[in-house]
This record gives sequence, structure tokens and C-alpha cells, in this order.
Amino acid sequence: LATPEKVLRTQMPSYTCQRRTPLNHHNSTLTDALEILARAAFFQSSEVRYLGFTRAVSTLKSLPFKLQSAEEAKDLPWCGGHCKTVIQEILEGGVCREVETIKSNEQYQAMQLLTGIYGVGVRTAERWYQEGIRNLNDLKNTESKLTVEQRTGLQYYKDLQQPVTREEAERVEQLVKDALLRFSPDVQITMTGGFRRGKLEGHDVDFLITHTNESALTGLLENAINWLKSKGLILYYHMKKRKHTSHAVSSLMDGHETYYTICALPSSSSQNTDLEVKPHNFVAAEQMACLKSQISKGWRAVRVDLVVTPHAEYPYALLGWTGSKHFERELRRFSLHEKKMSLNSHGLYDTEKRCYLPAHSEEEIFKHLGLTYISPSDRNA
Ligand code: ATP
Ligand code: MN
Ligand code: MN
Repeated sequence: LATPEKVLRTQMPSYTCQRRTPLNHHNSTLTDALEILARAAFFQSSEVRYLGFTRAVSTLKSLPFKLQSAEEAKDLPWCGGHCKTVIQEILEGGVCREVETIKSNEQYQAMQLLTGIYGVGVRTAERWYQEGIRNLNDLKNTESKLTVEQRTGLQYYKDLQQPVTREEAERVEQLVKDALLRFSPDVQITMTGGFRRGKLEGHDVDFLITHTNESALTGLLENAINWLKSKGLILYYHMKKRKHTSHAVSSLMDGHETYYTICALPSSSSQNTDLEVKPHNFVAAEQMACLKSQISKGWRAVRVDLVVTPHAEYPYALLGWTGSKHFERELRRFSLHEKKMSLNSHGLYDTEKRCYLPAHSEEEIFKHLGLTYISPSDRNA
């Protein structure tokens, strides 16, 4: 007789966007291990293996109970082959040899460290590794070779390594709102990314900016950025606006006006006393030192992404910038392969009917795609 768990296992849909993926799930020992294998594949630019492991991770995150045996994994999408071996080793012995080997591998460790610097991708990190660079000190001695972005990443490395808390994200939101409302009283500002999905911490804070009157958006973000800059609240930024051509050239990179920034977030007035009153016993010494230095300088560096979208594209941009990255990738793959539609942060194009499908909400986009609506907190794939 099929148990309810077996039914769930055998009926799990294969695309991530067809199921819920909550933030907290039941299989983190397995997903932690598989995520390391995914990252190692990513560092080796092995896209196929990277996607394979990432899909297995996302399946396990969707599973509403703890997997008990590797035998059970065979019913689950993307969990066969190599992944099944890993799952079996961990469920039976607690650890996977391959994962442990990767974790102690010098190149993996260096790649992890170097790609953790803002502005450094896999290819750059790989080249540096081949040149003998292993840590931040090695890098500081070759500073001339760095781009402005990378030099900034190195300069604020400690702050940027420290996760942004929800409380900090809300203070960033206040700063961004204050700046934008100065120039346009009716502008709409939405926090997107991981925080919209309910995460308690993030590597940055993401915002989507729109206005019912499109002309009000012209120059708006530029003005707000300049104002923040004049107050010393922007440490670095670069703007990207790609020419958005057509859906025929389906691309993952979207063309909205986007500012990638590093802000100087002033410490909150309560932060000082917080640290004195309750010493963070559980905070590692290094993190503690970082916190203290932030308090003495009165601010911390925070990565902030700001995106401007015309009002008609807002639901698509909201869906595109809420993430997670893997959820987005799966949505686009599902659209194209199952529905012959091309989805990005600007719109949805039906390649057979040759028309764009307008939407007023995220719900409508899911409806266009014939998918059950998945709320942001269930998009943590
Ligand atoms: P974290 O908490 O670590 O920041 P996150 O989910 O917010 O996690 P981000 O890298 O900030 O991750 O990206 C947020 C979302 O924005 C992602 O889902 C990604 O798909 C989307 N995104 C990021 N960069 C672009 C871009 N250039 N064009 C379109 N979408 C993007
Ligand atoms: Mn983010
Ligand atoms: Mn971001």
C-alpha cells in the first residue's frame, strides 16, 4: 500500500516552479553536501553538473519530510545517479567522502574565498589561482591588476562578508525611500530578492522602483543616487542599462536601468548599547571584532541593488527580481520548453501566437503559464 509519503515522493513535479520550496526544510544535511558539489562544479565551469546538483538540491528542499533512505531517492526527480550515491553515503555513514575531499581541497578553498570578493567571478578567481594567489594578502600585493569594482570589493571585504540582517535591510529601505521621495512623491519602492522570500539575512538588499507615470522615472534614480552620494551614503556604484532588444534573443540578463551599489549604512542608535548590554556570546571572535569596528566607525558597508522598471513591466520585474536564482531559471525553462513562451523581467512572449501577454500581477503571470501560484516565501529553491 502506498503511504502518503510515497505518494508525495512519486508525484513530485520535475520543475521547481511547479512546487513549493519553503525557506526551512527537512533535508539540510543532504542539501548542504550537494550544494558543495554544485559549487565545485560551478568553479570548474561544468554547467551540466552544476545544474544536476542544483536541481537535486531543490527537489530535496521541496520534500515535506526527512528522506530516510537512498532507496526513497529513486522516485524523486533529479536525485538518481551520482546524487543517489551521495545521498546513500550520508544517510548511512553521516558523511560523504567526495564532499569532505572537496572541502579540504586547496583550490576549492581559494576559489571560495576569491569569488566571495565583490566583482570577482569564477574566471578571474581561476586565473588568480593559476598565478599563485591564495588569499587576500596575496591579492593586496598585486592591487594594480584589479578593476575599480574589485578594489572596492577588497576594501570593504569584511563588511560585505557579514550577512545583512532584516533590521539593517529595513534601515536601508528607509534611506532609499527618503532619497527617492525627495524627487518624486508617488514613486513605488519594493524590497525584492531574498528578503521578499522571507529570508532573515542576505548578501545584499534588492529594490524595485516604479511609477504609474513613466516619465516620472526619467533620471529619478540618478538624482536619488547623487543625493545619497552627496550625504556620503554611497561608497561605490555602477549603472547598467542594456539595450533590451526582443524576446527572439532570449537572455537571462535583463535590460532595466540597474544600479549596483555599496552603501554606507549608519549604525542604529541602539546598536552601541546592544553590544555593551548583551555580549554576543555566540558570535565568533572575528565577527565580534568586525561589529566593534563598525560601531566605532559609525557605519557598515552594505551591497544594495536598485532597479527601475516601467509600470507595465512591474509584475514581470517583480517576479524576476524576487528569485531565487534557481526558481527563475526553472520558470524560464518551463515557459520555453513546456509552453513555447519566452519569459524575462520585461514580459512574456508567446512564440507561437507571436504576441506579448500583459499582466497586472504575479498571479496573472503564473496563470498565463498554466502554473499554480507560488508565493514568494515558497520560491526558496
Ligand atoms: P541574497 O540574499 O544572497 O542576496 P537573493 O536571492 O536576493 O539572495 P540576488 O543575487 O540579490 O539574490 O538576486 C535577486 C534576484 O534578482 C535573483 O533571483 C536573480 O534572478 C535576479 N537578478 C539578479 N541580477 C539580475 C540581472 N542582472 N538581471 C535580471 N535579474 C537579476
Ligand atoms: Mn539579494
Ligand atoms: Mn542582488
